[in-house]
Amino acid sequence: METDRFRILLATSELTPWVKSGGLADVACGLSRALVRRGHDVRVVMPHYESLFSYGGPDRLVASSRIDGFRIDVLETKLDDLVVWLLRCPGLYARPGSPYADPAGADWPDNDVRFGVFGRSLAWLAGHAPTPPFAPDVLHLNDWPSALAAPFVARAPDRPGILFTIHNLGYQGLFGGESFRRLSALLDMDPTWWAPEALEFHGQLSFIKAGLVFADRLSTVSPGYAREILTDELGFGLAGLLQHRAEDLRAIVNGIDSEHWDPAHDRFIAHRYDADRPEIKQRNKTLLQRELGLQAAPDRPLAIMISRLVPQKGIDLVLDALPGILSLGAQLAVLGTGDADYERRLHAARTAHPGSVAFARGMNEALAHRLEAAGDLLLMPSRYEPCGLNQLYSMRYGTIPVVRRTGGLGDTVNAATGFTFDEPSAGSLLTALRAALTAYRDPPTWRGLQQAGMRRDFSWDASAADYERLYGELSERPAS
Ligand code: ADP
Repeated sequence: METDRFRILLATSELTPWVKSGGLADVACGLSRALVRRGHDVRVVMPHYESLFSYGGPDRLVASSRIDGFRIDVLETKLDDLVVWLLRCPGLYARPGSPYADPAGADWPDNDVRFGVFGRSLAWLAGHAPTPPFAPDVLHLNDWPSALAAPFVARAPDRPGILFTIHNLGYQGLFGGESFRRLSALLDMDPTWWAPEALEFHGQLSFIKAGLVFADRLSTVSPGYAREILTDELGFGLAGLLQHRAEDLRAIVNGIDSEHWDPAHDRFIAHRYDADRPEIKQRNKTLLQRELGLQAAPDRPLAIMISRLVPQKGIDLVLDALPGILSLGAQLAVLGTGDADYERRLHAARTAHPGSVAFARGMNEALAHRLEAAGDLLLMPSRYEPCGLNQLYSMRYGTIPVVRRTGGLGDTVNAATGFTFDEPSAGSLLTALRAALTAYRDPPTWRGLQQAGMRRDFSWDASAADYERLYGELSERPAS
């Protein structure tokens, strides 16, 4: 069946490989490229952060506007075959650090204005602003930083359909009530939006509610998480609203960039391999053990973790389980950055157990690939996990995931490819790890697990086709 070709304006605050703090960056890049491959006309829009200056491609100015005191220039650039529009507004975006925080990790105090202007600019672009005009069929918003576009677009006549995708409901873009007044002075906000049925959340301004209330369709990144966010436990105060919108909520599991994450062609690793020869991983493991100062012991199982170090990811469960992990003979290598207390505990664990525990602090894409290529096991004991990407990368690299059965982890890891547990406790993690290590010591079983994961297809194509169907629903919706 021939599908329609859609014009899609896809808004994101992160984009691999240019600017990444988590999975959203990978999804924005992987999904957009898959959509381009499928023949759609895509414009990815994001702020022109300082960190992007070094990519300095040939940019072309396609539109300019003034939003209150801010001049916004839209620079068109390309990421291979993907067209990216960077919103240049130096006063708001030309800053060091992550998209949301200064180099010390503190959120910028004017994030409401930074992402308020971003949302308002998206609405302006969705209204066919540039020359030549790009009239999108769909405005695809992702997480709270782009959510404020939704109410502006929803009130416009002759407008695109709006999809809001929830990548993590735990991050909501909440600001004090005075923020609404501050933004109203800048952005032509409708006073009726200050209501619990709209953007108000217990006296605060909620960016994510702008998406949840005003988008035509909602989606999230796994069926498991789609069910969980309707519960009080994982609805983060928004379960009622989401239940109200349940008919419009869809679940589409993330894919992975299977060219970038491919052990047979990975330019970051020394010894490449595929499902027919997973034993080659061993050579990468020896190199990595040396690199990280771990005991170069081929027979010691190496457990890895690559993660933002925040309570969501369950790093504390791993730290609590550490004596057990070590008594089972395993090594632990963690790559991550985040809460100072977790970083301190990881440094202390490394000092206390040299040769057995390694901790690399920071964001390091190349090391992430080397860890996936070297590890025997991936630990992912998340308290909640909308989809999770590392377990998908791990399965592709023959690194067996040991995960808590929550959200997308429960949807993507099964007994054929990994080990799961339910209770968010160090004891349950250790029980699953023990089972994994029993399999590790039986080479045919281990190889079977590795090959089952490595042969699964996690590429974006199937998921992009699901988004395509959803875009189709949106472009056929009755005029509002
Ligand atoms: P989340 O989006 O909640 O952080 P995901 O598993 O969906 O979790 O995606 C995390 C992404 O960020 C993965 O691509 C992972 O490899 C990457 N990542 C996380 N921490 C680091 C790090 N310290 N260095 C390199 N990559 C990292």
